[in-house]
Amino acid sequence: MIPLTKIIATLGPSTSSEKMISDIANAGASIFRLNFSHGSYTDHLKRIQIIRNLAHKNKTHYTILADMQGPKLRVGHFENNQVFLKQGQTFILDADKKTGNEDRVQLPHPEIFKVLKPKMNLLLNDGKIVLKVQKVTPKQISTKVIVGGELSDHKGVNVPDVILPISALTSKDKKDLKFALDANVDWICLSFVQKPDDIRLARRLIGDKAMILAKIEKPAAVQNITEIVSEADAVMVARGDLGVECPLAAVPGLQRKIIAACRLAGKPVVVATQMLESMIEAPVATRAEVSDISTAVCEGADAIMLSAETAAGKYPVQAVQTMRQVILQTQEDPDYHQYLSALRLPLDGTIACAITSSMRRMIQSLEHPACIATYSVSGRTTLRVARERALVPILGMTISEKTANQMGLIWGVVPILSKTVKHIGEIAPLAKNLAKNKKLITKGQQMIITAGYPFGHQGSTNILHIVDSD
Ligand code: ATP
Ligand code: MG
Ligand code: MG
Repeated sequence: MIPLTKIIATLGPSTSSEKMISDIANAGASIFRLNFSHGSYTDHLKRIQIIRNLAHKNKTHYTILADMQGPKLRVGHFENNQVFLKQGQTFILDADKKTGNEDRVQLPHPEIFKVLKPKMNLLLNDGKIVLKVQKVTPKQISTKVIVGGELSDHKGVNVPDVILPISALTSKDKKDLKFALDANVDWICLSFVQKPDDIRLARRLIGDKAMILAKIEKPAAVQNITEIVSEADAVMVARGDLGVECPLAAVPGLQRKIIAACRLAGKPVVVATQMLESMIEAPVATRAEVSDISTAVCEGADAIMLSAETAAGKYPVQAVQTMRQVILQTQEDPDYHQYLSALRLPLDGTIACAITSSMRRMIQSLEHPACIATYSVSGRTTLRVARERALVPILGMTISEKTANQMGLIWGVVPILSKTVKHIGEIAPLAKNLAKNKKLITKGQQMIITAGYPFGHQGSTNILHIVDSD
């Protein structure tokens, strides 16, 4: 069986070369995230080219996500890229562009100097470092280190006590967005989304050049989750900032709530941050981490993500391998289908719903079900099918290369380019052939095919066809 939950690997200094990217792809990563808070355009572009060439070479489709920084404060850079802050020491954040050291660093956001007040806490690097503000002048914030640790270039700074005077899409984001769209990425991730309007604003700039994934990491976004899910094409439980902006103990419950909202709406959902954090430094995961991965899989996440583990860690390949093993092992649990079906999907009376919901039962009642095949130009039928979590891979046939790349984010979907199908009789032989190419079916197994007929028209899923493989 192939892993049905997808693996996203963030690329960074540890994963720049063709060899490394190829190794993590072979280990099981099929989605690659470029974080525009870090790295240069040249580096991002190089990685995009490597991924596209690799996809071509491996006759597959990889999905590329471009993650926009959004309205987030970040420190500048340091001598040797990092420093160690000791508990009790004084540390200064100032407006000076100079390279930082143990005593000071630039905070390149002049607006923030006006709103900070003594006694406020600054949380750095997803809350791992805590600074208490002691004195603020228009050019300098003097702080005391409450919780120390390693601090490296461009780490995030959260100020939970204040509302930041920065817009949802900053001027840097607009520049980065243009670059990413020109480079033909598949998905744009929007950070710190608070309301559906933030997504509408971005969509006006993006058009249909890429799909939009909304990162949920603000209490306001949690409040507006139903509307945000409905406006976005996919959602991420961005636990790094979420765990700083909301009480940390609330994160697991919020994760369940956000996943359920997405699955009900039939939108892909990603679980991210610290999934294998200890593997940044160690070749073996902790018990708690593998358990966290298995939980996200049982909750029905479409994809799970590695951040620093693959971007800056010492063991990127092992981290991906570990994720893959935990996904596969969880899928083999005889109770896996029970965990996934804990979420009841309401029947809405449409033909599409009647077809996809029966398909799940059919898969269970067939003796040797191998896969489902969908034929869809926009990917909508495929998304609809994936929502059922029917325990078999979904061969996502499409005539559009862009759709094929984008569909890689969806649970269970193996995207494949297909020729245009006109007549109903053509679909079964074609689907059988493509499924065999992808090794999704062998002799004696059955496949369920679904599509909207007449083909090539935007319309609802209305055919269902069971075929035996010869
Ligand atoms: P976000 O809030 O968007 O997750 P982040 O700072 O937490 O931002 P991640 O993508 O989660 O960033 O990656 C974790 C860490 O890996 C980063 O803080 C950074 O140190 C490193 N990293 C990621 N991508 C790059 C890159 N392209 N170049 C350099 N370092 C990177
Ligand atoms: Mg992060
Ligand atoms: Mg974040």
